Amino acid sequence: MATDRLDRVRRRMDEVGVDVLLLSLGADLPWLTGYTAMPLERLTMLVLPADGHATLVVPALEAPRVAERPDAFSVRPWGEREDPVAIVAGLVGSARRLAISDRAWATFLLGLQRALPDASWHNASAVTSAIRAVKDSDEIAALRAASAAADRVAAALLAGDIPLIGREERDVSAELGRRLREEGHDSVNFAIVGSGPNSASPHHHPAERVIQRGEAVVCDFGGTMAGYCSDITRTVFTGEPPAEFRGLYTVLERAQASAVAAAVTGTPCEAVDGVARRIIDEAGFGAHFIHRTGHGIGLEEHEDPYLVGGNAEPLQPGHAFSVEPGIYLAGRFGARIEDIVIATSSGPDSLNSADHGLHVVEA
Ligand code: ZN
Ligand code: ZN
Ligand code: ZN
Repeated sequence: MATDRLDRVRRRMDEVGVDVLLLSLGADLPWLTGYTAMPLERLTMLVLPADGHATLVVPALEAPRVAERPDAFSVRPWGEREDPVAIVAGLVGSARRLAISDRAWATFLLGLQRALPDASWHNASAVTSAIRAVKDSDEIAALRAASAAADRVAAALLAGDIPLIGREERDVSAELGRRLREEGHDSVNFAIVGSGPNSASPHHHPAERVIQRGEAVVCDFGGTMAGYCSDITRTVFTGEPPAEFRGLYTVLERAQASAVAAAVTGTPCEAVDGVARRIIDEAGFGAHFIHRTGHGIGLEEHEDPYLVGGNAEPLQPGHAFSVEPGIYLAGRFGARIEDIVIATSSGPDSLNSADHGLHVVEA
């Protein structure tokens, strides 16, 4: 499978005019080689020529972590007194059109630019992201399993099995994370808990605030399971919600469901965003929907394709992405509903099935 990925990457390099791909930090390297670079000060870099053998330049002390794949790449360990930038520059040789990991450290890019002064530089994502965005069946199975695990945690939240009233947000956040691990996640990437006025802050950092009765609580959590990410949001209310919140939630639920239904292959990403936005707009909440409708998901929590105005890219079978509109009344309350969806030739396939209706949690 990975050699198939290598082939596709090389074909794409030809199409976009890249001679050598340089992969360091980020998900491209593990996606292609199975090896994840350590995010430290020593350089790890795969040097992948469009028409030659690839070499993984890796700190000698980290080389034992590399599972060798002689069919795909050779390993070039470098010692503490060597200059890894010079080694990479030597492997690049006379090639001039280079693409480097979007998340490579600037210090190495700057060093390479000094070592290769007449090279032209591109983002590795120009080569990799469109390929990575289309998931194969193994990747979809992994995403499905991660989402199912997150669903079980969400179901516990909706059922009131996770007490909210009288607890600090950060305490609830820790419990969401613990439950994700119990459901099989290897790591927790985030567990946002925004209560009361904090529910109107989409990327709220949960802290000491104690959740009260009579509040909206937005819970947005996800992690990584067997390499692939989950990401789900459900909003509950502690005690009986006021009519105004019920009204807002009804609009949001309709916007989210309609956007999921609109995520049919061939539809431009921005059109899916437009469906959610129009419904929220027409209900008078347009100014309070302050982020894009969704993001792609896979090895990374946020990757292509983005469901956002201006992205005319049509959805393809195998695209995996979130659909997560929200409405936020600053200082008062807010709500968001988020599912992960796969575009398939037989229509949108929502990987999350935890109930979407407004749940009242009395505990
Ligand atoms: Zn977010
Ligand atoms: Zn989320
Ligand atoms: Zn998300």
